[in-house]
Amino acid sequence: MANSKQKTASIFHAHVYFDAKTKRKASQLRTQVKKAFNITERSRNFKIGRWHEKPVGPHPRPMYLIWFKAKEFGRVVPWLSMNRKDLSILVHPQHDGDPVIDHTDYAMWLGKPIRLRLSGFSGKPLAKRGF
Ligand code: ZN
Repeated sequence: MANSKQKTASIFHAHVYFDAKTKRKASQLRTQVKKAFNITERSRNFKIGRWHEKPVGPHPRPMYLIWFKAKEFGRVVPWLSMNRKDLSILVHPQHDGDPVIDHTDYAMWLGKPIRLRLSGFSGKPLAKRGF
């Protein structure tokens, strides 16, 4: 029988960070990921968020978000790991608990980790704020 303490998440985020120097690479990656996974406005398993040109929430650099369902994890994460063009990408589950934990204990990095701004980020539900 499954351990009742096991956790799961049905939604994951991949935050693609960039700066002035890497914005072009981030733009190329965005185009490529849309094509590779056939992502459109109507996609049910994927959404691509808008460009955040300024730091927002815990994210200390400009970024955009790739939202995907857990069942796509096995396709998306290997693809990103090999096509990320030296960009730093934070992959984390979105579950109903503390978003700080989602972004730290449950998070995984592709490329070089970036220190997130977690102070003042006290367990408010980020989902409603587009994170
Ligand atoms: Zn997120």
